[in-house]
Amino acid sequence: MNDIILEARDLTKTYREGSVSTRVLRGVSLTAYSGSTTAIIGRSGSGKSTLLHILGTLDSPDSGSVKFRGSELTGLGDRQKAAFRSKNLGFVYQFHHLLADFSALENVMMPLLIAGVTLKDARARALEYLSLVGLDERINSRPSEMSGGERQRAAIARALCPRPSLILADEPTGNLDARNANAVFELFTSLAKKDGTSIIMVTHDNLLAGRCDRILTISDGVISDD
Ligand code: ADP
Ligand code: MG
Repeated sequence: MNDIILEARDLTKTYREGSVSTRVLRGVSLTAYSGSTTAIIGRSGSGKSTLLHILGTLDSPDSGSVKFRGSELTGLGDRQKAAFRSKNLGFVYQFHHLLADFSALENVMMPLLIAGVTLKDARARALEYLSLVGLDERINSRPSEMSGGERQRAAIARALCPRPSLILADEPTGNLDARNANAVFELFTSLAKKDGTSIIMVTHDNLLAGRCDRILTISDGVISDD
């Protein structure tokens, strides 16, 4: 039996813009286990990104609780949340979010430097992870000089490199053609398994979701287990 890494209970979230309110989460509960891969699927607009942001302390729920290894996250202040994320979480998005003016190597080193790793160690670890994702030849390339698949590989190296215990991924292969998506998914999940990193991944690709350890479906503001 795996340990629980993240547990959400009864999350609610409504967006209000002027007189329009959108009830996105109506009591979402989920449990994610250490070292395992959880897929969250659901239609466009069903609240997948909203949920992932709340799980990652990037947004706050209106009510409900998110616990990381038993510690409540929702009451933390902004600085405590930022420190928590830097120490424990990695993020991968549909759009790579690499910094345009920096090389692949510098992009992957960045979170390590922010976390206080020395320049020398950050460089060594970034080179190791860039090699693991097959980008030895691309370390000095800027994002604009890389293909879509290469950019996502760099984004995955950046997320894995600080050895977070949990990676939250929002459609990490959503911008890639099927063949590239498959290769990047395989690389991402196998490297995470090797490091013992848990993944919660939002996707609307049912084939890829089917290769995760668990699939949760979000619909009408609630989640159901597969
Ligand atoms: P998904 O990722 O499943 O496509 P989202 O979580 O992005 O869904 O969005 C869920 C719903 O909430 C959508 O109807 C969307 O338009 C709305 N929404 C998302 N973010 C905001 C926001 N910042 N302000 C207002 N409405 C939002
Ligand atoms: Mg989304």
